Amino acid sequence: MRQILVVGNWKMNGSIESNQSLLEGIKQGLANGSQTAVGVCPPYVYLQQVSELLKGTNIAWGGENLSEQNPGAFTGEVAANMLVDFGCKYVIVGHSERRSLYGESDELVASKFAKAQEAGLIPILCVGELLEEREAGNTEAVVKRQLDAVINQLGVASLAKSVVAYEPVWAIGTGKTATPQQAQDVHAFIRGQIAEKDAGVAEKVQILYGGSVKGNNAAELFAMSDIDGGLIGGASLNANDFLTICQASG
Ligand code: PEP
Repeated sequence: MRQILVVGNWKMNGSIESNQSLLEGIKQGLANGSQTAVGVCPPYVYLQQVSELLKGTNIAWGGENLSEQNPGAFTGEVAANMLVDFGCKYVIVGHSERRSLYGESDELVASKFAKAQEAGLIPILCVGELLEEREAGNTEAVVKRQLDAVINQLGVASLAKSVVAYEPVWAIGTGKTATPQQAQDVHAFIRGQIAEKDAGVAEKVQILYGGSVKGNNAAELFAMSDIDGGLIGGASLNANDFLTICQASG
């Protein structure tokens, strides 16, 4: 049985004040324990604050991105070991906003995935199709290409120490959620692709769904057999909304 995992992606949101009240709210809500594993990924500059507030709790934290380079002359970048310094467990790689707004290629995302694992972080590898790609019937081809970039560079075994997040781009921040069956179909396809190479890895890897997950749709999504939790954007910025999602797996 794979444990349900819910991770908040704060994106470029937050302030010292709002982070404090958000995390106090989440901590209180989860104080009696949770069957669901929970994490939050704040902007880099708040990692120190978040680590202090979450130390000693069951809530993990992580980065939203990292450099594919080792430390050195790369102004503005953040290396994997720096995330480790601040106690990160996870790091998101290949979020669709990184791919579309900052031109991250499949190969670059695979290199970031590699750097994360070398440092002992668990990469959360985001994959997902654009609306035009879905409408053209190319969803599986796109997701396969994104997944294969990692498998070809690092081998299928690398996925055993990672999380995959299926995030249809047309559902991110739009209020349009994939139906549970639409999401399940792609999750099953992803797991099947991995199983063709290594059934054990496929059985183990957590595949999260992301794209307008809210308190009122999380339970039906998480009930699907290949959906192992969610990567949550907008709803992770409100403690009650995020807690409802964390509690959605029953
Ligand atoms: C995301 O940014 O990963 C995401 C899924 O955002 P939202 O929940 O706001 O659609």
